[in-house]
Amino acid sequence: MNFYQNSIDELFSQLKSQKEGLTHSEAAKRIQEIGPNILLEKKKKPAWVLFLAQFKDFMILILAAAAVISGIVGDLTDTIIILLIILLNALLGFTQEYRAEKTMESLKKLTETQTKVIRDAQTIVVPSQELVPGDVVVLEAGNMTPADIRLIETFSLKVDESSLTGESVAIDKIADPLEKEGLAPGDQLNMVFKGTLITNGRASGLVVATGMSTEIGKIAGLLQENAPITPLQQRMQRFGKVISYLILGICALLFASGVARGEDIFQVLLLSVSLAVAAIPEALPALITIALSLGAGRLAKKKALIRKLPAVESLGSVTYICTDKTGTLTQNKMSVISLEADHRKSFSPKFSNLQLAMGLSHDVHLDKKGKPEGEATELALVERLLKEISKEQYLLLEQEFPRIGELPFDSTRKRMSTLHQFGDQVLILCKGASESISGILKDGALAKELTLSSEVWAEKGERVLAFAGKLVPNLPPESEWSKLENELDFFGKVGMIDPPREEVKVSIKECKSAGIKPVMITGDHPATAKAIAAKVGIWKTGDLVLTGAELTKLSDEDFAKKVEQISVYARVAPEQKLRIVQALQLKGHYVAMTGDGVNDAPSLKAANIGVAMGIAGTDVSKEAAHMILLDDNFATIVGAVKEGRRIFENIRKFIKYILTCNSAEIWVIGLAPFLGFPNPLLPIHILWINLVTDGLPALALAGEKSEKDQMKRPPRPPKQSLFAEGVGYHIVWVGMLMAGVTLFTQYWAIQNGWHWQTMVFSVLAFSQLGHVMAIRSDRTFLFRQGLLSNLPLLLAVGGTMLLQLGVIYVPFMNDIFHTEALNLKELAFAGGMALIVFHAVELEKWIRSKIK
Ligand code: ATP
Repeated sequence: MNFYQNSIDELFSQLKSQKEGLTHSEAAKRIQEIGPNILLEKKKKPAWVLFLAQFKDFMILILAAAAVISGIVGDLTDTIIILLIILLNALLGFTQEYRAEKTMESLKKLTETQTKVIRDAQTIVVPSQELVPGDVVVLEAGNMTPADIRLIETFSLKVDESSLTGESVAIDKIADPLEKEGLAPGDQLNMVFKGTLITNGRASGLVVATGMSTEIGKIAGLLQENAPITPLQQRMQRFGKVISYLILGICALLFASGVARGEDIFQVLLLSVSLAVAAIPEALPALITIALSLGAGRLAKKKALIRKLPAVESLGSVTYICTDKTGTLTQNKMSVISLEADHRKSFSPKFSNLQLAMGLSHDVHLDKKGKPEGEATELALVERLLKEISKEQYLLLEQEFPRIGELPFDSTRKRMSTLHQFGDQVLILCKGASESISGILKDGALAKELTLSSEVWAEKGERVLAFAGKLVPNLPPESEWSKLENELDFFGKVGMIDPPREEVKVSIKECKSAGIKPVMITGDHPATAKAIAAKVGIWKTGDLVLTGAELTKLSDEDFAKKVEQISVYARVAPEQKLRIVQALQLKGHYVAMTGDGVNDAPSLKAANIGVAMGIAGTDVSKEAAHMILLDDNFATIVGAVKEGRRIFENIRKFIKYILTCNSAEIWVIGLAPFLGFPNPLLPIHILWINLVTDGLPALALAGEKSEKDQMKRPPRPPKQSLFAEGVGYHIVWVGMLMAGVTLFTQYWAIQNGWHWQTMVFSVLAFSQLGHVMAIRSDRTFLFRQGLLSNLPLLLAVGGTMLLQLGVIYVPFMNDIFHTEALNLKELAFAGGMALIVFHAVELEKWIRSKIK
């Protein structure tokens, strides 16, 4: 027998459970036995595999082979040192990659879902991982189904099963047993399956399978989730390929010309291969991933959780932030400040009609301590009511007039109704937006007056809710409930305020100066929306306010003409957000869009950065988003954009640094023979510079703080080349300058009979350190930035400098590196040469600022 064929009672006894759920101890026992409710992912690579993967690079293997061969025929110390350097390099790469992977893992944990489950007859919320077969769970619209569940009871339940069946239309679900044999999961209408999305209604159900025993677990087997490659990485990979071939070509030429000059073939081979290893930026794509992953970690600390890594780099390109109002711009702490009851009629002797509606038509519950808990709008109503009646009276209301049906709130209808037993009659209570209620009032004149008077409150920034209702003789069948919502008596209205979050005003200012336009999208009344938008600085004179109804009437062309002038969208249905995203994108904008509900998912997916709410958001919206705000705060989005810009700029800085160094190395080695100089550097010198001088400072550059004017500049065009804004020129000219001072040193030192090779080695190393200090900022001089403002980099540079001095002055290092102690004059000359590079780059900043 299948689960869908059994009756619920049969299943309860089969799974040794009951309506009141499992006991805590039984649930704990079961999870011990069958394990957590998770889909196993592809086994994580163990650390040693990750370490070995560092050696998979072809050139590294050739280098190792060349080192071994040259060791056999010649100098064994060189071989050992080269192998050591390769090992150190791998170790550095490994630690970084390992750290980045751990960061991503811990971020993933933060997105785990929660489920309402009944245990020991009490509803509690547990991490979905802790569900076991036999658990009774409560599901509602917005949830991701946490396990395979046989439905016990459903209320208008619709489920999007596309993740399992590919069918994108949401399916209506029922609770009755089905008879047919051999139904496919898609046809098992009384079952919901792990990983599918609940788009409408609510239900309770019995967990029948968890983890890998679920349908999705069976299909997926071991889930293989490869991290997607970000656009930046793709570009870097393409660039890397071209540049690798170019460098290989140069190295082959060098090898050939060396052999032609009659040099020792193994030495030339080792030199060319070392140069290839040093100059090919094979580690760049990995370094970018590391910088992005660690950036994602930093963003999480700032309450912005990245779900899709490419979002980190695209954040910096955002030109529009479309944001919800309630909770994101405002505190979502409503309080009633205006109230107007209509006393013309009263159904109950003890309560006014408005009190009945405020006390009954909501889903607020009192917690154990008697504190009301629920959605902010409704909470405000109950809190206000409790100022008029006592808690005892309030509790009595619910007992006296029990709820026997409901038409839940939805943002298209903008109202909700509840049905209550009222003696032998039925009371229908309806609350919602004024326009929505005025359309169903009995008294036409009153309806008009309601619309007008609500407008006045709305213009002060108040959210207005109107109440109405009527008595009917008996309860009609559920299909006819919606017909009850007409010919109603007016009960009154309330106006509530929801203060803006303190930090929002500043963030909006920052947004605007950063060339990003903030736009408010809300289901609220246009006048309320505009008043609040003006208060926080989103709306300014001249901006347009568009309502959902107006948007529906506009053709795509007409909408496109206006879209850039609109800063407030009001009375908008979530489905319309998609149109807004698309219109902005057609205008070439890069759009961040927030959302929390089921119907927000399409627009979140379509946006360049879909932003879901961590607290108020549904699983469905989180699943569709690129980023989740852990604090639901608008300011966090702006903070994330700032961080995104910084991460991108720093990535660009270390790319600039590494490529400049590499090009300098190529010029030095490549040009020397043509100038008639002996080989300026030995293979270990090149490898040392590549590992020590390039490696550590480059990593520290990724931690550079944001530039002062980071949020005063326009967003970076998303397709802009990495080498734009002078980066390409910089790499070429600074590379040539470094090579120039190095080769000049070689010439001068040979002329004067100095220790030329040690000097050449030192000038190249020192000038790279000078360079890294100078490119910490693209615009600010180092002395203005302050030496101490990037301590890790200062330590990396200082440490490297000491190591280099060690290479020059410590006798055993002299043996290893074939160097000689420099006298003071020689050292000063080398230092002076290196400083030229530092000053030249600082001069570049000055000239660029003058040109601007
Ligand atoms: P935002 O989109 O910024 O969250 P919102 O909360 O006003 O704004 P919706 O939740 O779509 O947007 O609500 C639309 C309208 O429906 C509200 O302006 C209000 O008049 C009405 N409304 C909101 N909550 C309820 C509720 N619980 N019961 C009845 N009516 C409600």
